[in-house]
Order: sequence, then structure tokens, then C-alpha cells
Amino acid sequence: MPSEPLGVDQAIAAILAELTPRPAAAVPLAECLGLVLAEDVVAPFNLPRWTNAAMDGYAVRADDVRGASVSQPVTLPVVAQLAAGGTAPRALRAGEAMRIFTGAPVPAGADSVIRQEDSDRGALVVSLTSDRDAGRNVRREGSDLAAGSVAFARGTVVGPGEIALLASLAVTDPVVHPRPRVAIISTGDEIAPLDDVARIRSGERIADSNTPALAALTLLAGGVASALGPVRDDAEALADTIRHAPATDLVVTVGGVSVGDHDHVPAVIAMLGGRLLFRRVRLRPGGPTTAARLPDGRLWIALPGNPVSAMVTFTLFVRPAIRRLSGMAQPVPPPPLVRLAEPVERHPTLDLFLRAVRRGEATDGVVTVRATGPVGSALMTSMRDAEVLVWVAAGPGGLPAGTILPAVTFP
Ligand code: AMP
Ligand code: MG
Repeated sequence: MPSEPLGVDQAIAAILAELTPRPAAAVPLAECLGLVLAEDVVAPFNLPRWTNAAMDGYAVRADDVRGASVSQPVTLPVVAQLAAGGTAPRALRAGEAMRIFTGAPVPAGADSVIRQEDSDRGALVVSLTSDRDAGRNVRREGSDLAAGSVAFARGTVVGPGEIALLASLAVTDPVVHPRPRVAIISTGDEIAPLDDVARIRSGERIADSNTPALAALTLLAGGVASALGPVRDDAEALADTIRHAPATDLVVTVGGVSVGDHDHVPAVIAMLGGRLLFRRVRLRPGGPTTAARLPDGRLWIALPGNPVSAMVTFTLFVRPAIRRLSGMAQPVPPPPLVRLAEPVERHPTLDLFLRAVRRGEATDGVVTVRATGPVGSALMTSMRDAEVLVWVAAGPGGLPAGTILPAVTFP
């Protein structure tokens, strides 16, 4: 078993090396927000599907309306009414107008839609009082996207705009990397689930804050969480919960990973026949973070139970795992740079992750940040306030105010 603690980057690399994107599958469009397209999407038909009006008004030929003005209106017979969803009964001939509404098909022969504000809105005969729309307000078939062209390259992350375009192309079930499934298992004899309000209020137990917090972080990272804890501080109970967990890609346990008598994670890894990836990482908070590959293929990332450590280490190690399973090109989001408002002490051998808040506007694209409190603190309020985690790499002495450092986006 490798027992030397890894550096943060090494630990992230060790996790990513174990994971590939979830196999591509067709997923209903409504469930695709944030997922990555696993195939190119080619437009199956033209967008717009038919040449249509961009305005409510009158379809005409530009040549027939040129020179129209308030003092010299052009008067044309209105030979048809075209509503959105209707079809033109026939082509427009020279010297004719058709009443038309936004989205309705523009009849063959017409090349302009004169907005109704420039008319007397006549039903049988219309008087047009401007030619500013001559040659305008016609959305040509295929002008947005032509049939056969690539609407999306594989690797595209599906956002609201992508959903709109996929829906327009009737791609009801895009082929994506399905959402990574994460089992979250909190541990600890002192922990009660949130529905055990009485014992939490009485002070007999502390509320399981890690489960909802990590479920929220899972959601933001693009995964779907199933909450299976809290589990007692008992190796058999933890092993059982992991064995019988519903199918997931990742198992994330929280707590019980230190070196105390009640910290069973290392023993359970052995009981389950897991292959240890690393035991401890050179960082604070979160040093005891451990990872293992289970024989059934699931990756188990064991986070420390301190809620601050749990959220920091989730962000550092589990978020990239979820993003890799999602097929994201960059499992680790690019680190923003921040400038220290105040000096910080370094740790000689551990990388520190300071919860920090922004102070003022960015100068030269770099925002200045102030730590929310001491690095070792378990203060929940510091997580409430944190906007970014400042990565203070191990080293001698301290760093002066004004130092520019990489940071980790949070949440
Ligand atoms: P552990 O890593 O199990 O030694 O836990 C470290 C600290 O975090 C202890 O003070 C625990 O009570 C606390 N803790 C562990 N799990 C949770 C949880 N699910 N919710 C809130 N606090 C927790
Ligand atoms: Mg514990």
C-alpha cells in the first residue's frame, strides 16, 4: 500500500487517471443541462424551416413599394391573410400584397414584409406609407442553420442556448455522457440525519450537514447525488453500506478517515478488496483525504468529516472526478489568479487552501482577496462567506500582501 502522502496535483492526477467519461447514451433533452455532447449534432433540416415573416405587416415585392411615403402612399390589393402556422395559398404576383403575421410563411414571389405601422392596416386594400422595409423582414429558410451543417461539435456543454437549438432541431434525446452518479455517505456516531430534529435540537447529536452540502456541490459539479448516510462508526456497517449502495460511479464517504480509533476507512478499503490510490494528501484542511478503487470499478474518495475540510476536499478532488466522468475537456477548471490583501504564513510542507472573499474590483484582471479566517478553523460561517479558495503552496516563511496566487473557484 502506498503510504507516502501525495501532493495536491498528484492526488488529482491519481484520481483522473482512474476515470474515463461515462459511456455515451441518449438522454432526454430536459435532463441534459450541463452535460457534454458525445457526438456532433448535424442539422437534420433547415432553420428556419420555411421562409417567414419577421414582422406583422404586409408581404410585398420591394419593387412595388419603392418610393412609398406618407405623402405618396402605395396602394395594393390584399389578396390573402397569412397567420403563423398557416400556408400561403399561392405565390404573390406583382402589384399584390398579402396580410402576414410574424412567423407566417412568406409566399413565393414576395421579398419584403412592410411593418403594419407603415400602413393603414387595410383588410382588402392597403395603403403603405414608407419603403424603409423594402427588401427586409424576411427570414430566409436555412439562413440560421442549413440542413447538413454541424450545429454542435462533440464536447459541447449543453446550456440553455444549446437546449433551445437542439429542441428547434427536434433532437429530443441528444447523445451525451450521462450525468455522473455519486453516492454520498456521511459517517459518525455523533451525527444524526436532518429528520432527527429532536435529537439535534436537544444537543444529543449534531446535524449531518455534510450530506446536504456535498449533495449541493455534486449538483453544481454536474453530478447527481444519492445520500446513503449517516452510517455508524463501525467498519462492518460502512462496508455494508458501500456494498449495497445503488449503482454509482463514485462513492464519497465523509468522516472516519483520520487515524483515530473510530476511523475505519482504511480498514474498510481492505475489507472490500479495494486498491488504495493514496492515503493522505499534503494539504490543509483535508490532509487525511484517501482514495481507492473498488473491485467493482467504483472509485471511492474518502473525505475528512470536518465540514470545512469536506467541502474543500470535495472541491479539489471530487469535482474534477465528476467533470471527467461528464466528459468535460477540463476536469480541473482553470484556476483564477488572486492578489492577497494581507500577508499570509505558509506551511513548510503542506499546501494551504484559504477560504477568501473578494475585496473591491479587479485591477489588471486580478481580484484582491481577504481570508475569511484562520486556515485550520472549522467555522461553518467561513464556508458561507467563502467565494474562492486561495492556494498557498507549501514553502518557507510567509508571503507579503500583494502576492498573486492561483485560486480554486468555490463553490
Ligand atoms: P471525522 O473526520 O469523522 O473525525 O470528523 C471530524 C469532525 O467533523 C468531527 O467534529 C465530526 O463531528 C464532524 N463531522 C463529521 N461528519 C459530519 C457531518 N456529516 N456533519 C457535520 N459534522 C460532521
Ligand atoms: Mg467521525
